[in-house]
Amino acid sequence: MEEIKTKGIVIKATDYKDSDKIVTIFSSDFGLIKARVRGVKKDKAKLAFAVQPFAFIEFLLIKKNDFYTVINATSIDQFFNITIDFDNYIFMLGCLEVCEKTVKENDPQNNLFILLVNSLKNVCYNQVSSMYVFIKFMLESLKFLGFKLELKNCACCGELLNKNSFAFSYDFNGLLCGKCLNKNPYLELSINEQAILKNIDMTNLEDLNNLKFLSRNDMISIISLLCKDFKLLTDEDIETIKQFI
Ligand SMILES: [Zn+2]
Repeated sequence: MEEIKTKGIVIKATDYKDSDKIVTIFSSDFGLIKARVRGVKKDKAKLAFAVQPFAFIEFLLIKKNDFYTVINATSIDQFFNITIDFDNYIFMLGCLEVCEKTVKENDPQNNLFILLVNSLKNVCYNQVSSMYVFIKFMLESLKFLGFKLELKNCACCGELLNKNSFAFSYDFNGLLCGKCLNKNPYLELSINEQAILKNIDMTNLEDLNNLKFLSRNDMISIISLLCKDFKLLTDEDIETIKQFI
């Protein structure tokens, strides 16, 4: 029996037996962990805060025969404000789902973990738009997975792109130049859609609110593009976001 201490973000919790839950944690040290929390469905359970999505917790776990049980938890941050606004709630759940679907057990993804914590912080405390943050989160997590979108040079021939590069190729995972778009299928992006993709890619999380995009529809089409790209590259759907796209 091994005792383990780790920080983690709660992704979700599901019922288990009469009064327990199995909590899915994105931990900083061990990647994705599923752990049993005993008695947490009872009234006044002392660890109830440690099974809420978005909760940032220092967990004390025991590991026995590959099964984890939470024996204690200390709250670092609950990010309560995220759950008050519908957009914030859904797009940040989308970020949790991306982590759930790409991180494995014993696969600490430090860059992704830091990105997730910073994304939650910026939406919760700095009022950064959760749609911008979700787009940034998708672009960055695709980079960590080795699928960086090519937005500066042609994704097919490598030639430097001009300003108005409107052809997005799912096959090449990026924009195409004028020559290559004649030979390949592509999705045509409007000027605003191009701007959203390129500007969010170039801007740090904490500066995203300096960007001003007027149309929610343009944002949604970029989110839709990224979710489709993610599905083609990882074979995983982001179910949470489907209600918007
Ligand atoms: Zn080209």
